[in-house]
Amino acid sequence: MNIPSPADACPACSAPVGRENPRFPPLQRVTSDCRPWPAGGRLVVCPRCGMVHKPADEAFHAEIDAIYAGYAIYHQSGGAEQRSFDTDSGIQSARSARLIGRLGDALRLPNQGRLLDVGCGNGATLRAFSAIRPGWTSVGTELDDRHRAEVEAIPGASFAAGPLTGIDGRFDLVTLIHVLEHIVEPIDFLRTLAGVIAPGGHLLVEVPHHPDNPFELLIADHRSHFTTATLPFALATAGYEVDIVTDGWISRELSVVARPATGPAALPGVDPDRAAAVIDGSLDWLRRSLGALVALEQADRPLGMFGTAIAGTWLVASSHAAVSFFVDEDPHRVGRSHLGRPILAPAAVPPGSAVFVGLPPQAAAAVAQRLATPTVAWIAPPP
Ligand SMILES: [Zn+2]
Repeated sequence: MNIPSPADACPACSAPVGRENPRFPPLQRVTSDCRPWPAGGRLVVCPRCGMVHKPADEAFHAEIDAIYAGYAIYHQSGGAEQRSFDTDSGIQSARSARLIGRLGDALRLPNQGRLLDVGCGNGATLRAFSAIRPGWTSVGTELDDRHRAEVEAIPGASFAAGPLTGIDGRFDLVTLIHVLEHIVEPIDFLRTLAGVIAPGGHLLVEVPHHPDNPFELLIADHRSHFTTATLPFALATAGYEVDIVTDGWISRELSVVARPATGPAALPGVDPDRAAAVIDGSLDWLRRSLGALVALEQADRPLGMFGTAIAGTWLVASSHAAVSFFVDEDPHRVGRSHLGRPILAPAAVPPGSAVFVGLPPQAAAAVAQRLATPTVAWIAPPP
């Protein structure tokens, strides 16, 4: 008889063992900073709450240690392959401003208060918040000091490196932007966070929404893959009341606003069978997309990949297709290289090329249509 390991427990409801998806282990993966990562991971669906996750077994811990150690080295080197969307690009600023604008409207935030941004990066969220509520003070936290000076230059902001235990006082708003999916024990983490939320205060959780973006399942260091069902379930389990659940604020992302519950929180309904079916569909689509890319190879025609982030990285690294260049619209990336291939602006793609648009179906179709030219074939993945 197999005795389940505690490491296999569901991160949301602690059910002892999940349903393994047998199609996942053979797939190559990527890291959240867009490096290819070998096959061999596990992806399971909790039979009790439907939470899609990677069991936190010994192999998972060893992998995330290696991935985060690589992050540090990579950034210390001044990284040519920067996480543009998380660092200096206008794209990131626009995204943060949009998210904070939506949140400010929804919560009717007062003109004064205290904000805590956990995992603040270089301060994109704090900067966007300071612009709409200049009367607030804020604290940003990160695991290391790399972005201290940038964060402290934001009006009203201070910076704290390390765990939450060093944070003084309570906050009217706590933001957790692309953090919770990395946390090995998210319920414990959310419970700790509730202790720094002031009475009447709120928590914003922003995570990827994998049903809109199958590539997200391939990120080796994402422990949890949330949906509009499982994130509210996790928050309720951790003692929160959920006020807003939406996948409409930022495309392919999930935004949830919650506050510590004053009484026992009611658990929302869940559907593990549906969650498993979504994963099956996503993994099947990924397989078909790889096939579509390989089918574009022709001896006389240059082949390119649009997108240098998670999707483009995975498609090129795991298809072994003869892709000779990347294409990106981010000016911070054009002129650099990725996976040993040059990154071209769309206008610089050689005539006669085919370019595979490495994005989820709807976004890919829109890009292929927008960039359409008579001399280059822009190919979206299958629907
Ligand atoms: Zn569960």
